[in-house]
Amino acid sequence: MKYVDEYRDPVAADKLIKEITRLADKLAAQRGRPVNVMEVCGGHTHSIFRYGIENMLPPSVELIHGPGCPVCVLPIGRVDDCVAIAEHENAIMTTFGDAMRVPGSKRSLLQAKSLGADVRMVYSPLDALKIARSHPDKEVVFFGLGFETTMPSTALTVLKAEAAGIGNFSLFCNHITIIPTIKAVLDSEDFQVDGFLGPGHVSMVIGTRPYGFIAEHYRRPVVIAGFEPLDILQSLWMVLKQLDAGDARIENQYSRVVPEDGNPAALQAIGRVFELRPYFEWRGLGSIDHSGVQLTARYAAYDAERKFALPSIAIAEPKSCQCGEVLKGVIKPWQCKVYGKACTPQTPLGALMVSSEGACAAYYQYGGGPRGLVNEHPPGEHAA
Ligand code: SF4
Repeated sequence: MKYVDEYRDPVAADKLIKEITRLADKLAAQRGRPVNVMEVCGGHTHSIFRYGIENMLPPSVELIHGPGCPVCVLPIGRVDDCVAIAEHENAIMTTFGDAMRVPGSKRSLLQAKSLGADVRMVYSPLDALKIARSHPDKEVVFFGLGFETTMPSTALTVLKAEAAGIGNFSLFCNHITIIPTIKAVLDSEDFQVDGFLGPGHVSMVIGTRPYGFIAEHYRRPVVIAGFEPLDILQSLWMVLKQLDAGDARIENQYSRVVPEDGNPAALQAIGRVFELRPYFEWRGLGSIDHSGVQLTARYAAYDAERKFALPSIAIAEPKSCQCGEVLKGVIKPWQCKVYGKACTPQTPLGALMVSSEGACAAYYQYGGGPRGLVNEHPPGEHAA
């Protein structure tokens, strides 16, 4: 296929849905429950709701929305640390738009900005470096977050800062790694997933081989998937075909973009600048070993965590927030007690309602709810 319309062809989608239904009905009858397939990536969650894919599927297959939205899994304590840096009188805090709205225990970055903190939205860490060049009297901090997809650009920015001798730039690093996260999800007790739609963007960097353990050790199929409707439907069909055949392999549906070996230059930049943290805290999932990275000692001069005194206090989620259960696929967003009531995209209580890749925001924006029903709080409408 060459043009984007071809990836949205309704006739081809219809054929795939018929095949998915045939296989899912058979597999669900064998299991006595629906087949559970997790899409790991928040980009897939967004596409699934944007194109109404969930409502096209039979009840015999259930899509579980995984933890692949980096904004959504940021714990409250890290947001508080970031706000503390932003409120330092000599600091300029820079970050992507979504991250500015993630609620901390007292306020978000956006609210800190409204109270006078110098917080600026950027489109790339290199924009932050430009700001550092033009404000040599200020400490310019980039609030870096994301999986391996965004890690290379942050790493290259640190390398560039070093090469240019820019000393007033630093990184508040919240980059996270996908493989330990999937492993933690697979090991969690309340978890029943039969197969995975693998993340397309992360895999462009890390390739397909790191997922091998999921097939070998956990005997679950993984299909690396693209983001168009036919990509997602075809990948789902490939997962079901493997399950039907009793296979557990790593397949690459998104081979037009994802090389088997990933991107060696990007991996090299990551390897030069970052090292694994012993553990990292995730919103709703708790602490996961080796699931985050930090700057190596070689680049300590660019580490905001060393330059600023941070509160670094672990803050419990609000009692009414059920983000953790949604992230593990135990409940659907609309089953959270505060969904569409106290928690909306305009007034997010949990981070899953902040980013467009968050499952709750995607449900809300595109009218998600129990299958076949429309959202009782459509986009733009505030609930009491
Ligand atoms: S509705 Fe809000 S509080 Fe509930 S799970 Fe979603 S984001 Fe979290």
